[in-house]
Amino acid sequence: MQKFIDSYDFTGKKAIVRVDFNVPLNENFEITDDTRIRRAMPTLKRVLECGGSVIIMSHLGRPKKVDPKFSLKHILGRVSECLGVPVQFAEDCQKADAQAAALKPGEALLLENLRYYAEEEGKPRGLAEDASEEEKKAAKAAVKESQKAFVAKLASYADCYINDAFGTAHRAHGSTALIAKYFPNDKMFGYLMEGEIKAIDNVLKNAERPLTAIIGGSKVSSKLAVLENLVGKVDNLIIGGGMGYTFIKAEGGKIGLSLHEDDLIPQAQEIMRIARERGVNLSLSVQTRVANDFSNDAETKLVPSHEIPDGWEGMDAGPESLAKWRKIILASKTILWNGPVGVFEMPSFAKGTLQIAEDLAEATANGAYTLVGGGDSVAAVTQMGFADKVSYVSTGGGAMLEAIEGKELPGVAAIRE
Ligand code: AMP
Repeated sequence: MQKFIDSYDFTGKKAIVRVDFNVPLNENFEITDDTRIRRAMPTLKRVLECGGSVIIMSHLGRPKKVDPKFSLKHILGRVSECLGVPVQFAEDCQKADAQAAALKPGEALLLENLRYYAEEEGKPRGLAEDASEEEKKAAKAAVKESQKAFVAKLASYADCYINDAFGTAHRAHGSTALIAKYFPNDKMFGYLMEGEIKAIDNVLKNAERPLTAIIGGSKVSSKLAVLENLVGKVDNLIIGGGMGYTFIKAEGGKIGLSLHEDDLIPQAQEIMRIARERGVNLSLSVQTRVANDFSNDAETKLVPSHEIPDGWEGMDAGPESLAKWRKIILASKTILWNGPVGVFEMPSFAKGTLQIAEDLAEATANGAYTLVGGGDSVAAVTQMGFADKVSYVSTGGGAMLEAIEGKELPGVAAIRE
């Protein structure tokens, strides 16, 4: 049974907390963005303030074996600083029995990178490239078997389990899902995870209408499942960015050198058919800023999106598209945004994405609920200074995308069931 962090009595209890401290480090192993560390603090502080202690666990990067480059020791100082107590360190997440047992109320212990062990992901490592199917199967079964002991060891350190790692909630790993079954009556979401789940529910389950999704980014292939799920739920579906040109081509438009995926034209046509059938307003770009080269200094001009000349490439949404989308955004009560509507990394082609961020901020100020989720749109609103002008900015790229696809996330299901 799921418990709630606000009503759980942590007095004298040890909580093992899965966080997402997978922060970017520079070549000197200094943290270049500590957002993920800071966002986990409310949960960790709550346990300590209520007289409990915390055993913090996370992965960092994608090590395939013990590798000091990926040691969580690099971030220990920052975690201590943010938490306001000196955090102890366990050099091996599987040998922390004594340190965990000695923890007193108000104390914290950080475990070394969980992914030093193949058992965390439950995937075999070191298989020869020419391994037969049988060998692969046997290796998989072996790691699944040893995963049980790995998870049981982590669970043995604590009295309760908190999952606050939304960034890995779409993975059925040892520390994100399997461990929950050791705490049938003492498992809960941390504040960050709870916030993400509520934000998704506000859009996909309890949305005030009209509900609008703005989906941009580079490729239809990476967001096909997102589009297929949303077309059955939203009132307006704005498709922009590089992926929009596959749709424009599917309608018979001329797209010049713009990014597109010919093999997905049938799927694009099907999504447009479903939108028509359900009365969903599927809105594509009508005017595009094109360039004669994929470069910030290229020559540019504005053209109708369905008549892009040969040799030119669509790089950003033009003012006429943005005006059309602005009307839709400002008339909406709930808005989900995933993916930039242009090559926003190049200042010459960032205007469209900036305009969408401004429109979302205005809609939020007028009372709409706005969620920015997944990857580059998060980077865009943050860089452009709009992160606190929308209702919620998600921390989990892949997890948010899978949630928008309508999938149940294993990390969420493990706590709820
Ligand atoms: P995604 O990871 O799928 O959300 O894609 C984000 C990327 O899409 C960003 O790096 C943008 O530069 C890129 N993008 C957006 N619009 C375009 C476009 N018209 N042509 C090429 N790339 C684009």
